[in-house]
Amino acid sequence: MNAELPQILNYIDGKLVAPLSGGFIRNIEPATGKEYSLIPDSGPEDVENAVLAAKAAFPSWSTTPYTERSCILVKLADLILENLEPLARAESRDNGKPVSLARTVDIPRAESNIRFFATAIVHFSTEAHIMEDSAVNYTTRKPIGVVGCISPWNLPLYLFTWKIAPALAAGNCVIAKPSEITPYTAFMLSELCIQAGLPAGVLNIVHGTGPSCGNAIVAHPEIKAISFTGGTATGRHIASIAAPMFKKLSLELGGKNPNIIFEDCDFDDMLRTTLRSSFANQGQICLCGSRILVQRSLYARFKEAFVAKVKQMQVGDPSLESTKMGAVVSESHMEKILSYIRLAEEEGGTILCGGRRVNPGGNLSGGFYIEPTVIEGLGPNCRTNQEEIFGPVVTLQAFDDEEEALKLANATPYGLSATVWTSDLKRAHRIADKLEAGIVWVNCWLLRDLRTPFGGVKQSGVGREGGFEALRFFTEAKNICIQL
Ligand code: NDP
Repeated sequence: MNAELPQILNYIDGKLVAPLSGGFIRNIEPATGKEYSLIPDSGPEDVENAVLAAKAAFPSWSTTPYTERSCILVKLADLILENLEPLARAESRDNGKPVSLARTVDIPRAESNIRFFATAIVHFSTEAHIMEDSAVNYTTRKPIGVVGCISPWNLPLYLFTWKIAPALAAGNCVIAKPSEITPYTAFMLSELCIQAGLPAGVLNIVHGTGPSCGNAIVAHPEIKAISFTGGTATGRHIASIAAPMFKKLSLELGGKNPNIIFEDCDFDDMLRTTLRSSFANQGQICLCGSRILVQRSLYARFKEAFVAKVKQMQVGDPSLESTKMGAVVSESHMEKILSYIRLAEEEGGTILCGGRRVNPGGNLSGGFYIEPTVIEGLGPNCRTNQEEIFGPVVTLQAFDDEEEALKLANATPYGLSATVWTSDLKRAHRIADKLEAGIVWVNCWLLRDLRTPFGGVKQSGVGREGGFEALRFFTEAKNICIQL
């Protein structure tokens, strides 16, 4: 291990500290395939220290007036904004995503997440239920205590802050773990928390692997709730540990989202957006539309125009302003995606474009690049159309009418999001109503209002994030009934 490399540190009890074991893991830059920093290999003993700090901080933080908590979080949001450029560069380097995407989406959204919940808590209220002149019920909502937040690598700071912001605003103390694959911006955030004056122990960021550090968070008896975003298999494992301990659980899991295109859509708008919804962030967004369903009357025209555009997409250096598609996150993830492309061929699919690893040459020749890939000729039940690939790979399927579109759209165990393209509003509503998904976009994609409920059905998750839903998750309701 190269001891010269910069070390990421845990943030426990307000201080930046090395893991107790002294062990570090290599952090690889996806653009080059080379190691460039070291990540703490934290274990249960580091989590234990974090929990002790969080427990000690809880009595004071939970009774700090919400207006004061709000001010500290607003200050943190301001600091994210001031550091937008270094954060965007770090996110791009750590994840492989184009720096332009990190600058316009990831970091601005991290800032909005913190600011949104800093202000939401000021407007959060509880209910009263009046039983005419016999009694009055009112509900209090108290923070839960010490809670755990575990986030994935695809939108690192974006999803990390989406969890910690409501937890902190509601008065909880947090033990948070970013993905070990993309820890850098969470480390930078810990430095900003110190600058913002967040009291020691209120937020503790512990870095390390899922099986060691993540598991210790999930299994810790003093951590009363777990908010997790990641793969469905990991979510199932987490639920199997947390549910028998009666922990509150919020699970945001995988997706295999349909993008349903009717012949009466605005073709140019649909095509532009479908390129994004297929390949943004190298297809590594849980909301990407990986199954494109096209009405048969439009299929040939769509296929020709879409494939022509995809062939023009350049894959390359994420640090260049002009790059729209960078590297996928890791070597093992690249191998997984490539194995799915081979599987699609074995299942009888035709690769219309892409399908191979890309070597941009020079310093980037060891990086993890894949051509954007379009596949046709596969039925709804094959593994390619059932399992989450989470890369720059989409399939095309044709349908004749609304009934068939719905049948294809709902034919997976997932139910996160769906997109519908049509100029017939009645049809849009009919379809949206019957889609098995937590989020439906009509004639748009990834248009987000942070006040709306966010989450999936079926194997895409349990519970909803966003707006007051998140503040309700991170608080316990108590009803007090007074007889009059
Ligand atoms: P993983 O499930 O592999 O990991 C998510 C997080 O869980 C990481 O921090 C990981 O740590 C941690 N983890 C892994 N194993 C355990 C464990 N045994 N106990 C506790 N924590 C653990 O997902 P990915 O990081 O690969 O992210 C991609 C997945 O996330 C996709 O399936 C995608 O669809 C989903 N996702 C869902 C979203 C939604 O809102 N529904 C949004 C974004 C992504 P480490 O990485 O350090 O091992």
